[in-house]
Amino acid sequence: MLSTDLGLTETQRDFRAMAAEFVDAEVVPHAREWDRREKVDPSIVRRLGELGFLGLMVGEEYGGVDADMLSYVLVTEELGRGDSAVRGIVSVSLGLVTKTIAAHGTEEQRREWLPRLVAGEALGCFALTEPGTGSDAGSLTTRAVRDGGDWVLDGSKIFITNGTWADVALTFARTEEGVTAFLVPTGSPGFTATEIHGKLGLRGQATAELAFEGVRVPDSARLGEPGRGMGIALGTLSRGRISVAAGAVGLAQAALDAAVRYAGEREQFGRPIASFQLVQELLADSAVDVQAARLLTRNVARMADLGAGPKEYATDASMAKYHASETAVRVSNNCLQVFGGYGYIDEYPMGKYLRDARVLTLYEGTSQVQKLIIGRDLTGVNAML
Ligand SMILES: Cc1cc2nc3c(=O)[nH]c(=O)nc-3n(C[C@H](O)[C@H](O)[C@H](O)COP(=O)(O)OP(=O)(O)OC[C@H]3O[C@@H](n4cnc5c(N)ncnc54)[C@H](O)[C@@H]3O)c2cc1C
Repeated sequence: MLSTDLGLTETQRDFRAMAAEFVDAEVVPHAREWDRREKVDPSIVRRLGELGFLGLMVGEEYGGVDADMLSYVLVTEELGRGDSAVRGIVSVSLGLVTKTIAAHGTEEQRREWLPRLVAGEALGCFALTEPGTGSDAGSLTTRAVRDGGDWVLDGSKIFITNGTWADVALTFARTEEGVTAFLVPTGSPGFTATEIHGKLGLRGQATAELAFEGVRVPDSARLGEPGRGMGIALGTLSRGRISVAAGAVGLAQAALDAAVRYAGEREQFGRPIASFQLVQELLADSAVDVQAARLLTRNVARMADLGAGPKEYATDASMAKYHASETAVRVSNNCLQVFGGYGYIDEYPMGKYLRDARVLTLYEGTSQVQKLIIGRDLTGVNAML
């Protein structure tokens, strides 16, 4: 047993066991093929819904599953171990969209979207980033203008996970009052999603560019008060970073497991490469990194379970996300080294781990942005203004 598992409840272990079983039987055997053809099997979405993984922590009255944040982290870690492209579908649809509707939506919005999102009959995407505004998301330029009782949206978004698969786009747009959030059905006239091909990693996942050309939505599609959209986005991202961190831990663990196995099997100079101290160093450094990342991630999940809100755990979420994502890159790179030349061909999963890990230090706030959030908390000075 991992020492980091001490204190886990039976329920938490059950959630993890269920996710592990699903990952080993239905994800790992297909991950390479999905990566090669740049598309995860779309039926996985319904399957994730059936298993309850798209409804963790959502009210049972909407079909959700009663779970705590640590259980969510354990499931996400397992999904990340199997395939980051699958893990990302859940992190975004559940983590960034469903939970945000549950937290900020009206009863009508919850009834309209949550049951389908939870069941995997619908998917959500989170549309914040624009071609001209990434780290500086607050300067976004997509506009929403009142027209009678409706709002009309114009603008574009880029790098939107689940973009071409989504039924609802949680969209952040500039209004007279500031940034406002909207739930835009992707079937709305004037809305288009175009898949971005040629990504370094996460190839199985649908990442898209979105265009809004006179997209009309009723006022009932507005999520939260006008002008409160950035507050909603930032709180959502603090929570989302816990999920990215958990996925990063799972990916790094998968790379480490593969490297340990390979080191025991591969022989050079008449003995297993595991017997060389420099190979052991690569494995030992990786193990320490993974352990530390896991502890930081579970620590912030426990904070949330003890009642801390996104504002209170924001710095800890940034610490976990920063360390775990950098760990995933470092560990997958070190573990690829253990494979020698075989690590460089896609017969083995090492290249995919490294390619998939690379985005983790970029999205939901780059590592630089995480450091600025931590630095702001330490010094009281916001270096991003
Ligand atoms: C595969 C993928 C999926 C994504 N999914 C989504 C999604 O679902 N929804 C969504 O809204 N977005 C998504 N994103 C976008 C992602 O969140 C942004 O790419 C990220 O926030 C960085 O923005 P940028 O790419 O514009 O880089 P920039 O902000 O232009 O940054 C470029 C470089 O400058 C650095 N930098 C910027 N500002 C500062 C500063 N103040 N101090 C120090 N360094 C700084 C950055 O750290 C980085 O190294 C996704 C991106 C990718 C690649």
